[in-house]
Amino acid sequence: MRLNGLHILLTYQCTFECDHCFVWGSPRQSGTLSRKQLREILRQAEAVRSIEWIYFEGGEPFLFYPVLLNAVREFSAAGFRIGIVTNGYWATSLEVAMELLRPFDGLLSNLSLSSDLYHYDEAISFKTKNAIQAAESLGLPVGKISIAQPEVPQQRCSVRRQKNAFKAVATSESRVMYRGRAAEKLAIQTSWREWTEFSECPHENLHKLDRIHLDPLGYLQVCQGISIGNLFRRPLKEICDDYWPNDHPIVGPLLNGGPVKLVERYSLPHADAYADACHLCYAMRLVLRERFPETLVPDQVYGAI
Ligand code: SF4
Repeated sequence: MRLNGLHILLTYQCTFECDHCFVWGSPRQSGTLSRKQLREILRQAEAVRSIEWIYFEGGEPFLFYPVLLNAVREFSAAGFRIGIVTNGYWATSLEVAMELLRPFDGLLSNLSLSSDLYHYDEAISFKTKNAIQAAESLGLPVGKISIAQPEVPQQRCSVRRQKNAFKAVATSESRVMYRGRAAEKLAIQTSWREWTEFSECPHENLHKLDRIHLDPLGYLQVCQGISIGNLFRRPLKEICDDYWPNDHPIVGPLLNGGPVKLVERYSLPHADAYADACHLCYAMRLVLRERFPETLVPDQVYGAI
């Protein structure tokens, strides 16, 4: 594995509890990284020489502003390119947004604002506008992440066509992926297709991972809820060097036939139809959690608050 990006979930806590959130972010969630843990992560990220990008996300990373700012300073000083993903709840006015973003001047290579009808009453909230205007004034590279509402397809289509369609809308609005809270809250609103259609993972490059998510408990996740190790128990570099995707009990089947293969490999009970590949994948992983308690973690990502 030649890792280019480490996406650090600073916390599972969030100001919102959005229906589409696949990490079950919530004000009631637990799990936040400390300064000491972030220093340990920095040390380990440096040891994996291929990592260029560090993203801070969540949950909502600005909830722990002093910890976030300190981490951005330290990772930036170590030569990493830094991105932050935030819902912009803090940009209550342009002046406040300027004040909060100014300390990041010269440190960020990307600031992504999540804004859509899950977060706010309007697709681009006034807080998002404040944050974007402040970032632009400071010369910070800024962008927007928006997730579309569930849609009812007019006709049945293959997973490959679904994948292409996903790419086609990715620059403006991305489609919902029906995993995490979205599987529970939103899947019912769209049309479902036969489970046998989901014979590949449409979103993650599981074979050649170039980015990985690190959660506040130390779990390295190739997709939310699928761990390949815990950085607080074993060095990141060792985990990366020993990643053999085909040998992984969940990644292996996913690579060799998608969520359908998970069903077949473990003879899992299933429904006739699902909203998308992630919906089937997530539903099967819920069933498999007892069997793979160290792999299908943490509880937070499976809805325990
Ligand atoms: S199919 Fe599974 S592994 Fe692939 S993106 Fe969806 S939830 Fe993640």
